[in-house]
Amino acid sequence: MDLFEYQARDIFEKHGVPVLGGIVATTPDEARAAAATLLGDQPGVVVVKAQVKTGGRGKAGGVKLARSVEEAGEKAAEILGMDIKGHTVHRVMIAAGARIAQEFYFSLLLDRAERRYLAMCSVEGGMDIEQLAVERPEALAKVAVDPRTGIDQAKADEIVAAAGFDAAIAGQVADVLRTLWTVYRDEDATLVEVNPLVLTEEGRIVALDGKVSLDANADFRHDDHAALEDASAADPLEARAKEKDLNYVKLDGEVGIIGNGAGLVMSTLDVVAYAGERHGGVKPANFLDIGGGASAEVMAAGLDIILTDPQVKSVFVNVFGGITACDAVANGIVAALQILGDEASKPLVVRLDGNNVLEGRRILAEANHPLVTLADTMDGGADKAAELANA
Ligand code: GDP
Ligand code: MN
Repeated sequence: MDLFEYQARDIFEKHGVPVLGGIVATTPDEARAAAATLLGDQPGVVVVKAQVKTGGRGKAGGVKLARSVEEAGEKAAEILGMDIKGHTVHRVMIAAGARIAQEFYFSLLLDRAERRYLAMCSVEGGMDIEQLAVERPEALAKVAVDPRTGIDQAKADEIVAAAGFDAAIAGQVADVLRTLWTVYRDEDATLVEVNPLVLTEEGRIVALDGKVSLDANADFRHDDHAALEDASAADPLEARAKEKDLNYVKLDGEVGIIGNGAGLVMSTLDVVAYAGERHGGVKPANFLDIGGGASAEVMAAGLDIILTDPQVKSVFVNVFGGITACDAVANGIVAALQILGDEASKPLVVRLDGNNVLEGRRILAEANHPLVTLADTMDGGADKAAELANA
């Protein structure tokens, strides 16, 4: 999960990374109030920053200085609602202004290929690190970080030396890098990026921008991470599927898909897309893997999600009986249709194969549900489901 800058700022602050004050606002009034809180009755500068999960906000006009409470409201009004690379700005952060002497770059990320972490650091930070990496790669230090030791004092010193920081600030920068490591480790992040990390006119090192991605696989040990999710951005069907612990991804098409096992579901998407070319170009409506168990409850929960998708015209249930045999799956489908009652209103094509397939098919044939069509093969089932979706 990628965080907004204001969330990254809060997490930095919690772990002791030097940051400046920042308050999130969704309206110009809130922006004025936030600026008033940050400025007190002193004259000064605040920065109004678009909160969108994409880079290059500065260049797109999403980062603006304001010299008064009034101006903070005006800049917020300009930035709220703006479109930055396809992201609509719903929030701004009002941040205390910094007097910047120098801008640096630092990031720490998961290097999957090398099975360790990678720190990248440059004394030429600011806006265009991607461009710097291409045009002058020697200006971007890359230092491997062993997950077992992380960024300890020696590693921090190594990174700072590789990047070529002035001796006068090297120690202070190294301290900040060690603190950023604790953010990375303790929050189970896969990315912590600070661009710019700045030296202020007052001689402090401060993280002025923050990008943090959290590893969802570690959510179970971070009760506070669920609250960081952007509920407004989530697809409502995906959100409901998540509540029910279903592996569901919404797609654009008309044929709802249920299968067991990610590989089987992926190939089902392919054959349905292929069959769709013969039937008016219909496509898969979703990915849904109900896993090995495929109990009646899980089948009902899955069917329920798919059938409430208004785009869905037909459903293809493609199950290969393994540890859970086909008769259990068939009973699950029959029970699911009973649980759903009138809610089950779209044609279902069911293809069963594998362990105890004959008994599974017999159960479905006997139930003789008016919406259910049995298919013998995956290709045949895909074709029938596509045809029904196009009817
Ligand atoms: P990004 O473009 O999305 O990465 O947004 P940043 O938060 O990195 O801001 C872009 C640029 O705005 C920075 O590189 C700074 O040059 C400038 N900036 C951000 N905050 C301040 C501030 O408090 N004072 C000043 N003078 N400039 C700032
Ligand atoms: Mn930045």
